[in-house]
Amino acid sequence: MTDHADSSPKCRFCATPLVHSLVDLGATPLANAYVDPERAPERDPVYPLHARVCANCFLVQVEDAVPAEEIFSDYAYFSSYSASWVEHARRYAEAMTARLGLGAESFVVEVASNDGYLLRHFRDLGIPHLGIEPAANVAAVARAEGIDTEVAFFGRETAQTIRARYRPADLIAANNVMAHVPDLNDFVAGFKALLADEGVITVEFPHLLRLIEDVQFDTIYHEHYSYFSLLTAEKILAAHGLRIFDVEKLPTHGGSLRIFATHADNASHVDGPGLAAVRAEEAAAAMDDLKTYQAFPARVAGLKADLLALLNRLKAEGHSVAAYGAAAKGNTLLNHFGIGTDLVSYVVDRNPAKQGRLMPGSRLPIRPPEEIARTRPDYVLILPWNLKDEIMEQMAHIRDWGGRFIIPVPSVRIL
Ligand SMILES: [Zn+2]
Repeated sequence: MTDHADSSPKCRFCATPLVHSLVDLGATPLANAYVDPERAPERDPVYPLHARVCANCFLVQVEDAVPAEEIFSDYAYFSSYSASWVEHARRYAEAMTARLGLGAESFVVEVASNDGYLLRHFRDLGIPHLGIEPAANVAAVARAEGIDTEVAFFGRETAQTIRARYRPADLIAANNVMAHVPDLNDFVAGFKALLADEGVITVEFPHLLRLIEDVQFDTIYHEHYSYFSLLTAEKILAAHGLRIFDVEKLPTHGGSLRIFATHADNASHVDGPGLAAVRAEEAAAAMDDLKTYQAFPARVAGLKADLLALLNRLKAEGHSVAAYGAAAKGNTLLNHFGIGTDLVSYVVDRNPAKQGRLMPGSRLPIRPPEEIARTRPDYVLILPWNLKDEIMEQMAHIRDWGGRFIIPVPSVRIL
């Protein structure tokens, strides 16, 4: 079948038919659908994973083939499990309290507040707060810690209810949630509806510029519906009467942005230097030119050729290879490159809930990290490359038997 414009999916933001591909990763199992061993012979349910770019607004997006309720209503990720993330949250709370002069009269709302990893710092500072979290089991953990939390998906209606029941928000925080929202316009309309006249919204998301430049194709998976540049984020917020006035670059998730926004007609926040800097960086990278996006598949294919050549050579030479990190991005990489147990024996992960299970698609068995010291592989392929420094430090003992690390992204390297 040909891909006629009128049968194409439409842009989630501006409704332009999506006729341009960023990269088509094919029919792929859900990245977090780990498989129990007794189900190993069964075929995984697969869903299309095709990232497209809108020629009008440059939003990169995958279709929400899997309903958000299926993915997020009983979500197993607890933010507080990561020590570095809790520290990131503490620094944010202190910086925002100082910058906005927040106190006992203020009201802070976090969208997708998870287990309260962020709001606990505002609680400790005596600042009234409210978390909005769709997963009831995760919200219950936050409430048990004394963090006020409502169970809901965020959007215009939820925002209006919260505003009426509590008050307008002086600060709205939304970290790593905007990528997961199927109805983007309803979500951003919620910001507009809830924000106080002089209030500030901060939003963190992985930066599309880094995805493109560093070939981070493995951060594309079904749960990530949208991928944002500053260029596109400014268009989306502007359409809802909001204005970005500052931007910070963060190292998280391979390179993220934290944008600061307020009502378009609120003159009390002047543009910060980060805004012009990131705009200039994106202009230099031609993020407003379709050609930038159209060059991407060839770079992914280059990575695939390099990694498969290396793994096949190591196999031919009789070397053993294990992998570290049963993370979602590892599943995208293994499945798209067609890497299975013929090339990589197993993967280790610190999360006990994953150990003993199999990676979806590739069927790599997931084992505890001690398996590396026990079996002494010649090479360890680091799948969560964004954490490579931390992992190489934890696994430094592989040097004792001459073991080496393989990093797959942004280029295949042996370290
Ligand atoms: Zn668009």
